[in-house]
Amino acid sequence: MLRRNQVLCLGLVLVLAANLFLELRPKEAAQDLLQGGLHTRDGTVMARLFRLEKAVQQLEENMRLAGKQQAKVEDTRMKMNHEVHPAPKAAQGKAVETKKPAPQKKLFPSSALFQRWGEDLPEDEQKKAQDLFLRFGYNVYLSDQLPLNRSLPDTRDSRCLQKVYPAQLPSLSVILIFVDEALSIIQRAITSIMNQTPPWLLKEIILVDDFSSNGELKVHLDEKIEFYNRMSPGLLKIVRHTERKGLAHARNLGWEAATADVVAILDAHVEVNAGWAEPILARIQEDRTVIISPVFDNIRFDDFKLTKYALAVDGFNWELWCRYDPVPESWIALGDVTAPVRSPSIMGILAANRLFLGEIGGLDDGMLVYGGENVELSLRVWQCGGKIEVLPCSRVAHVERHHKPYALDLGAALKRNALRVAEIWMDEYRHMVYLAWNLPLQSSGIDYGDISSRRALREKLKCKTFDWYLKNVYPVLKPIHDVVGYGRMKNSLDRGVCLDRGPVPGNTPIMYTCHEFSPQNVYYRLVGELYVGPLVAENYDSQHCLTDPGHGEKPTLEPCSKAAQSKLHILWDFKQGGSVINRDTRRCLEITREPLGTRGLVLRTCTAQVWEIQFTLGAWGRADAL
Ligand code: UDP
Ligand code: MN
Repeated sequence: MLRRNQVLCLGLVLVLAANLFLELRPKEAAQDLLQGGLHTRDGTVMARLFRLEKAVQQLEENMRLAGKQQAKVEDTRMKMNHEVHPAPKAAQGKAVETKKPAPQKKLFPSSALFQRWGEDLPEDEQKKAQDLFLRFGYNVYLSDQLPLNRSLPDTRDSRCLQKVYPAQLPSLSVILIFVDEALSIIQRAITSIMNQTPPWLLKEIILVDDFSSNGELKVHLDEKIEFYNRMSPGLLKIVRHTERKGLAHARNLGWEAATADVVAILDAHVEVNAGWAEPILARIQEDRTVIISPVFDNIRFDDFKLTKYALAVDGFNWELWCRYDPVPESWIALGDVTAPVRSPSIMGILAANRLFLGEIGGLDDGMLVYGGENVELSLRVWQCGGKIEVLPCSRVAHVERHHKPYALDLGAALKRNALRVAEIWMDEYRHMVYLAWNLPLQSSGIDYGDISSRRALREKLKCKTFDWYLKNVYPVLKPIHDVVGYGRMKNSLDRGVCLDRGPVPGNTPIMYTCHEFSPQNVYYRLVGELYVGPLVAENYDSQHCLTDPGHGEKPTLEPCSKAAQSKLHILWDFKQGGSVINRDTRRCLEITREPLGTRGLVLRTCTAQVWEIQFTLGAWGRADAL
């Protein structure tokens, strides 16, 4: 997983999409979804279903946007736009015709699959392609027609080609884990590994089936394995789960089956690129405690073209959702673009010394479905004596799919796995994960499983603290220590609406029907700042602070660091159940009733309106502390 999608990490998750969905405010769609879903208004059931369907289509589109947004590397990406595949058969057939074919009616104009692909596809083929797309989250119709041994553009820096690696290198087991992936996708991954890895180094390819429901992946895949093994005896192995156990477990099963010196654990929808293995094997030969991430490029889920990604390190936010971070200045100062880059985390895909990975405890089997296991491993590696590096000369292309075939909503798994990481590894900083997910520190109602064996492992390995990790490995991730109230912020006059960051783009907060997504996250700090919107807490990005602009009656949201520098009025006096009063202007944040019955948000002379915030920390919110 490349959380993948990491700019992958990227990919994307319904929660994130839903956040974005509300943030980018397909406002009508959001309103429809909320009102259509929660209130009966005047519509018939059919009309509401229709609205919901439209909202879901919009959601799909926003998941695509979410993928882009999550990447945060858009501006540093270079579009390759190389044609790496022949046109699909249907289109090839047409190419020899002299007359231009009549344009085809678009059957699925709002489908993400057909935004830049499938222009001339006949209607019945469009249906096939759309069905496969919905089932797998990428363009299986096209994948089935592309050559399995297509060659990708070499995305390495030219200086990588001059590198000379030791003649003797450790042997390699490549592990591909999958659940319900398309057969042609898995075959293309296998083919690329066989073509791009020196045969004397590649000991085996181990397929791990996490209990796919796709029948094609049983007998047909076994036949293909036999076929490959006829060419290279013993090269392919397959192990299968007899029930779905999630990707951490699948990776561990692959590790158990592996026998080479080094394991590379990949998603099944990858194509490894030229020379990917040698830098990994050489680096692990030098230092057995280093866990390696290759650099990912994106295979687009619709047309399977390659987009080269700029070099970045793998990080995460306080939800423990992966993100790309800029490479450190110290690496740039080295002046060697081929040098390993120290990275706070991995996205999911990794390579490691097989025995070392076992010694530090593999992946945490207690992680369910997807998410969090990459951060758990990363903290454990750093805190317990290993290190993580991205190798610029090792490149792996990965399909960032449009949606996941194995779960409609990954939010629950991500949240639960994140709490597990927080409780095992994050010590006095664990509250940041609860803050980011908007959960109470006590009685969150989320069962993150038994962590006693992981805590025992931490003891046994004599691991350092999370404080050490933050200070020495990931100073970019900023904790906040003085948050005293967080969650939804409601005015006692109307508890159906919540303080909300308002339309994006834009910097005007509003009152909006309460929902569970991050645009309505509010954080009140003892220092007096009131953040509205998702928790950012990284020093190169910005949190939005509720601001009294000093004129007019509308509050605004301003990036806190800039607002503080410009001496804007961003500090507020607030106690649970009390007024929200600007410290400089003494104006109060209050709500009004608008002509259509909605609620407005204003700054004015106080009329004694009072507010409540959902969760409090420490003694701050208690009646005896007021
Ligand atoms: N996977 C799995 N079991 C699961 C979920 C995922 O084996 O319950 C596999 C999946 O087929 C893929 C890898 O784990 O090969 C990573 O998942 P995915 O690609 O969906 O994550 P992303 O790269 O989008 O973060
Ligand atoms: Mn993946």
